Amino acid sequence: MAVLEFREVSKTYDGTTPVAALKQATCIIRAGDYVAIEGPSGAGKSTFLNVLALLDTHTGGTYTINGGDVRNLGEGDRACLRSSTFAFIFQSFHLIGARTVLENVELGMLYRAVENSERRARARQALEFVGLAHKASFTADQLSGGERQRVAIARAIATGAPIVVADEPTGNLDSQNSALILKLLDKLNAGGTTVVMVTHDSSVAAHAHRRLRVVDGVVSEVFDGATHVDFEDVPTVPENRTQFQVNSDENENPTDLLKSADTQAGVGGETGLADSAVGIASKVLRGQFFADALASLTSNRGRTWRLISIVVIGIALTLGTIGLSQTARFQVTDAFDANLNRRVGLVYKDDEGAQAGTAALLRRLPAGRKNLLQVAGVEAVQGLVKHSAADVAARPEATDKSAYLFGIYPAKPSPQLLEVNWFRGLPHPLSESEVLVGQNLAKELEIGPIEGAPSLWINGKPFEVVGTIKDAGIRAELPNGLVLSEDAARQVSAVDSVGVEIRTAPGAAEQVAKVAAPHWDPYWADQIKVLAPPDPREMRARIDATVQSILLTLTVVSVLAAVLALTNAMATGVHQRTSEFGLRRAIGARPVHLAALISAESSLIGLAGGMLGTVVAVFAVLVVTIAKRWQPVMDARIVPLGILFGVLVGIVGSLLAIRRVMRVTPVEALRSA
Ligand code: ADP
Ligand code: MG
Repeated sequence: MAVLEFREVSKTYDGTTPVAALKQATCIIRAGDYVAIEGPSGAGKSTFLNVLALLDTHTGGTYTINGGDVRNLGEGDRACLRSSTFAFIFQSFHLIGARTVLENVELGMLYRAVENSERRARARQALEFVGLAHKASFTADQLSGGERQRVAIARAIATGAPIVVADEPTGNLDSQNSALILKLLDKLNAGGTTVVMVTHDSSVAAHAHRRLRVVDGVVSEVFDGATHVDFEDVPTVPENRTQFQVNSDENENPTDLLKSADTQAGVGGETGLADSAVGIASKVLRGQFFADALASLTSNRGRTWRLISIVVIGIALTLGTIGLSQTARFQVTDAFDANLNRRVGLVYKDDEGAQAGTAALLRRLPAGRKNLLQVAGVEAVQGLVKHSAADVAARPEATDKSAYLFGIYPAKPSPQLLEVNWFRGLPHPLSESEVLVGQNLAKELEIGPIEGAPSLWINGKPFEVVGTIKDAGIRAELPNGLVLSEDAARQVSAVDSVGVEIRTAPGAAEQVAKVAAPHWDPYWADQIKVLAPPDPREMRARIDATVQSILLTLTVVSVLAAVLALTNAMATGVHQRTSEFGLRRAIGARPVHLAALISAESSLIGLAGGMLGTVVAVFAVLVVTIAKRWQPVMDARIVPLGILFGVLVGIVGSLLAIRRVMRVTPVEALRSA
């Protein structure tokens, strides 16, 4: 009974100069046949075999399998039919080098939904058949050429596919190994498997029972007395079987029909494996799918780590930016709260002050201060009266310097408003002969905490220096000025302007600023200028907006860079693995299976990269904050965010690779090894 039937099948390769590689070939290959296709190099042998085994499409004539025309089958149906009908042996073996012998044999059944235990048992049985059971746990890379080809044979027969096609199976082997391979093929055919083998070597072809000769794309039968095929014998296709039915969801194997009753003598024969393909064509079990994806990653660690490190860098940069900016933002607002936000200043507007009379204003100092201290949120009040500049000298005969002069009320400086470095003893009210010197001025006058109080002459009057004043951030002139009690100051210099410094509780400055002026001086409230910090909420919002837009930019740039780098690396990876994907297509994978494999691999890479990147980012933020003595502020949500980003980068970064892998055609891919 005829099974594979070519009727004037042609194949022309498109191109600038189209090549007619197969010209109107007509022949029948029956179940149980052992066919050699021989001919010189470039004659069209591989083209013939590729069309026959559904690795490639023909461009003319009719090709039927069991009477079903294959012409109009879609890609998925072709994959289905291919994997249930054919198993493959190639000149360059097409094993996955980094995986074990057993895994390579099992891979042959991946797209056939065979349960793990059965898959393993069949793989071991097939390895027994080729005599390599003892090398099951070696990686394919560790084997010799002859052994690799035997593994490829084991992979082919483990599927139980009824037809084994072999393109120059001995082409890369020495004569001893060639003989071994041919013996295996003979044994396989003796067991009932149909064998179709391409070779340019007539001594190899002599093993077959039938010989087809291809010359210049023309196929002809070689009769040497032993063959029995007669082209006139081609049966007509039965009416009810003109269209091939493919059903991948049921274990209904169309090629079961390949064996006619009279050729089933060797069923289950030499290999011990069933003579029809196991499982469900072109279907993958979920567990095996993930195990395969994981094995793809773990069997090529170098490549996997390179891909993961791309994601790690992207995620670490992104999260590091977020983490550091959160910490830095906290520092900004904290510093802002601590200093600026707790100070309110009051000054009389100059002209009005002069008009109202200095004496009157000064008289308000005790009462005004008392009133202000009643206001909720006020912690300290210090009257600060600015006097006309005074001449100062460290010795009576030295040349004078001009310096700002301030009088304070009360005479005891408030530690919350004036930071004083006392030379001797505890903080105390300034007596009428004591002076505090701004720290910059002190340096200029070369005054320091020496034994015996240093003296200063201010407008000719001697004073004892009892300390220096640090920059407290309330008046820019203070570090360059002199501070006396207000009573003493008035005796050496005229009053310029009267002011008040208020220290408030944290966050109270805004509120205090609103009520401070009338509390100080209800009659002249509208003549008082209030120096208050800007609205802290507004300021914080402004800082946040700035930080956030920078943050967003950096984050987007980091993620984009990672996606681009991964896209490039993944696409290159597909290119490097073309022959592997070609093999997968040959053994039954549909394009969508390959797309799923790439997505699974890249999601796992993204997941690993996301987790590692998060760890790196947290660590980096900790190192920076500890080095800067900041308090690390990190939102716990950045952990799931990092992992999610990682997976997203993985998925988006694999889109180009997926696009490419879906375009891998088995025939192109298998040629490229
Ligand atoms: P063989 O296997 O007998 O050496 P092939 O079947 O590989 O020969 O090739 C037959 C002819 O078709 C050759 O001339 C080859 O150059 C040409 N050919 C094969 N594949 C392609 C292709 N993909 N595109 C264009 N020409 C091709
Ligand atoms: Mg060839």
